[in-house]
Amino acid sequence: INDLNKDNSVSGILVQLPLPKHINKKKVIEAIVPEKDVDGFHPFNLGKLVQGEPGLRPCTPAGVVELLYKSGNNPSGKHVVVVGRSTIVGKPLSLLLSQKGVDATVTLCHSRTSNLESFTRDADIVVVAVGWPDTVSANMLKSGVVVIDVGVNRTDSGLVGDVSSDVKEVASQLTPVPGGVGPMTVAMLMSNTVDSALKK
Ligand code: NDP
Repeated sequence: INDLNKDNSVSGILVQLPLPKHINKKKVIEAIVPEKDVDGFHPFNLGKLVQGEPGLRPCTPAGVVELLYKSGNNPSGKHVVVVGRSTIVGKPLSLLLSQKGVDATVTLCHSRTSNLESFTRDADIVVVAVGWPDTVSANMLKSGVVVIDVGVNRTDSGLVGDVSSDVKEVASQLTPVPGGVGPMTVAMLMSNTVDSALKK
């Protein structure tokens, strides 16, 4: 990473996670110079996100926001329920959605949330990033809700997301798994890399 930091021909550095247990993930991420942190996981860039200042944004959350805009679902004034509070997806997504200019009202749920369905049933938009199939099903949602399924789970019947198959019966729009959030994540990674190259 030190070599890549110094190499002027390199615009972006991505550390493929997870790392083997004996390697300190925090130290590795923090070794990347923030200007080349195209994954947006460096504390400097996460700090910029908290402050609402420009910086490299984490790709999956940025992709979710982009998906909402491009699919005609401006989150301004909407109640968005995010299920999952990881540093990679849920937490930065809640910050992106609630920042000035995006203006969603965000509820961030997690494994200790009691009565999850009381929140999801009130939501205009539900984003699920948990890592368990069938975490959210149709009876937990209101009719016409927009659902973004971030989950990727390998099962005997192939790749599935975190929401049940019956969700498509109540949702007005639902991202597919695979082929939804995954490709958007890659697109945002390319976008961050181009931004980083142009800044150089
Ligand atoms: P983590 O395991 O880091 O976080 C999972 C979160 O879900 C935690 O906050 C946990 O709560 C919460 N949770 C677990 N069970 C429940 C439950 N029953 N009800 C409510 N909340 C629950 O996962 P990641 O955020 O890294 O990933 C989530 C999913 O998204 C995975 O399937 C992953 O593969 C996928 N993913 C997909 C990407 C893509 O590009 N498509 C990119 C990144 C992730 P608590 O904090 O209390 O433990």
